[in-house]
Amino acid sequence: LKKELIFSEKMNIASIISASVAHEIRNPLTSVRGFIQLLTQTELNPDKKQMYGKICLEEIDRAEQIINDYLSLAKPYPEILEELDIGEEIQYIYNVLKSVANLTGVEVEIKYDINLLVLGDRKKLRQSIINIAKNGLEAMRDKRGVLKIEAYKRNNEVILSISDTGIGMTNDQVSRLGMPYYSNKDKGTGLGMMVSFSLIKGMLGKINVKSELGKGTVFDISFPLLKI
Ligand code: ADP
Ligand code: MG
Repeated sequence: LKKELIFSEKMNIASIISASVAHEIRNPLTSVRGFIQLLTQTELNPDKKQMYGKICLEEIDRAEQIINDYLSLAKPYPEILEELDIGEEIQYIYNVLKSVANLTGVEVEIKYDINLLVLGDRKKLRQSIINIAKNGLEAMRDKRGVLKIEAYKRNNEVILSISDTGIGMTNDQVSRLGMPYYSNKDKGTGLGMMVSFSLIKGMLGKINVKSELGKGTVFDISFPLLKI
């Protein structure tokens, strides 16, 4: 009986992970598609062309990395921990998101202090924040709104805050966030938050969600501040 239980648990983890891979590979594919569309505009200046090309390459690399990351989610493995400047990461995420956002009439605003250093895995941080931000954009699909990504210091922590002015959630919905397959979307898989939450926890981050129906949602993520 015990063996069977272990086996079925393993199966479950395996199926969750393979579904997650498919889901998360779609994020970089969608943004690469968007940038290639922009690249086919003939009136584009060379600087922009170069930047869009660079982002495409980075996103394709990210897609490849995501596959590796998901495969390693199931087992303990040595993390690639480095000193991350949260401001730099916000800037990168902004570049990835803004063209997608502009197409839907959403403004993306960023604001961050200097020297917000944390210890973490760069790709995982980017991935987890992009998952949360994309949900914010999707929550504003039918109305114009603002997505804000901000970061600041609070005591010995770095707070990374992602807020939207979208449809919001009930307390019940907020409490379900992070459960595998929990989704209210037609084409949602309900895996983005599960992945984000587990990656953030893996970097010793804590997540606090405040949401109000019809008003919007704030995700406050705190990481231990790395002192220089
Ligand atoms: P998916 O986006 O595929 O549905 P997620 O795990 O990313 O799966 O999100 C789960 C659910 O949580 C979403 O379907 C949505 O109902 C809700 N949700 C997450 N973020 C937000 C947000 N910023 N505003 C409103 N609802 C949200
Ligand atoms: Mg999602």
